[in-house]
Amino acid sequence: MKTIRIAGGGLAGLSLGIALRLRQVPVVVHEALHYPRHRVCGEFISGVKIDTLEKLGIRDFLKNASRPNQAMWWSHENCLGTFALPEAAYAVSRYHLDHQLSCHLRKLGGTIHEDSRLQPSDAEGTVWSAGRRPAQGPWIGLKAHIRNIDLRAGLEMHLGDKGYVGMVEVEEGWTNVCGIFPRKEGPTRKDRPLLVSYLDAIGLSAVAERLISAKWRENSQSAVAGFQLGMQSRLPHLVRIGDSHSIIPPFTGNGMSMALEAAELALEPLIDYAHRNTSWSETMQRMEFDSNHKFHRRLQLAGVCQHLLLAPWFRKPLEILALEQLLPFHSLFTLTRH
Ligand SMILES: Cc1cc2nc3c(=O)[nH]c(=O)nc-3n(C[C@H](O)[C@H](O)[C@H](O)COP(=O)(O)OP(=O)(O)OC[C@H]3O[C@@H](n4cnc5c(N)ncnc54)[C@H](O)[C@@H]3O)c2cc1C
Repeated sequence: MKTIRIAGGGLAGLSLGIALRLRQVPVVVHEALHYPRHRVCGEFISGVKIDTLEKLGIRDFLKNASRPNQAMWWSHENCLGTFALPEAAYAVSRYHLDHQLSCHLRKLGGTIHEDSRLQPSDAEGTVWSAGRRPAQGPWIGLKAHIRNIDLRAGLEMHLGDKGYVGMVEVEEGWTNVCGIFPRKEGPTRKDRPLLVSYLDAIGLSAVAERLISAKWRENSQSAVAGFQLGMQSRLPHLVRIGDSHSIIPPFTGNGMSMALEAAELALEPLIDYAHRNTSWSETMQRMEFDSNHKFHRRLQLAGVCQHLLLAPWFRKPLEILALEQLLPFHSLFTLTRH
């Protein structure tokens, strides 16, 4: 059988590697960094089907995840309402999840090279799951794990001026606090953590004050900038899954679930290739077509939603809709997930 080489051991790469190993396909993963490590992510997995988790062979790794089933939204200080999630989400730190998945993949006989950064090449049999592609972009994503915040719902979402922050409990009493901010707002005070400064800058000072007096988890602060949301540029000769194919806007999006769904979608074409039933070029075409077909509408809708939710002119209508209980939360949630 042919070996599948995977560039990037994040959620997409590791789950694909595990699923392939469960079907005896030889797998080598190259991961630019190492495990475990904290990374920028809201760590809120929603919309993933049990079938997908089972097919990938990773269901057990979410069994101890917390299961938020309510979301509470604010626009600055105004509470827009509490919404029941159509299905309970999973909240688990990437620090634990990626580490556990990497150990499992090794146990199944997969090879993982840590601290190994691949360059795009035309070598056949390489799946590119190396995440966000460097690009000029207006955003900075920030995250930290913080304790003693006294969450008011399973998931808190706070909309500020052109940015937002979400909060969800992950594990051992730690709450993930993660948001996207316009980069050019920049931190105003150097004596506060970056996340707190950006919250102040987008008018979420009440949230900032809750965080400043709480306990911060060591080494959990992380930042990412220089990326573009939406479809990512193509790489010749490589098939891309997860964020390296497309980045769904995080506010309404579910990038982690999409990474898992993309791994599931890639499974059959790659098994056929590994068994020498199809050529690499056929495999690439099939995978590209399947991904575009599956994710195109979802990406567009999430893009429009995030644009509207963060647009200053839409804030008043949004508050009125919320007051009248006319926010189509349930439909939005479902449409941006399936
Ligand atoms: C601010 C923010 C908040 C988010 N919140 C959520 C959320 O709450 N829920 C949700 O579902 N999604 C969320 N997402 C999106 C989610 O994090 C991603 O969609 C998901 O991590 C994609 O998984 P991936 O495996 O494609 O990429 P990643 O998880 O980014 O993994 C890519 C891996 O490739 C490695 N790598 C990079 N370059 C190379 C190379 N050249 N060679 C080898 N390895 C390489 C990296 O080190 C990394 O480990 C958020 C994103 C942002 C920016």
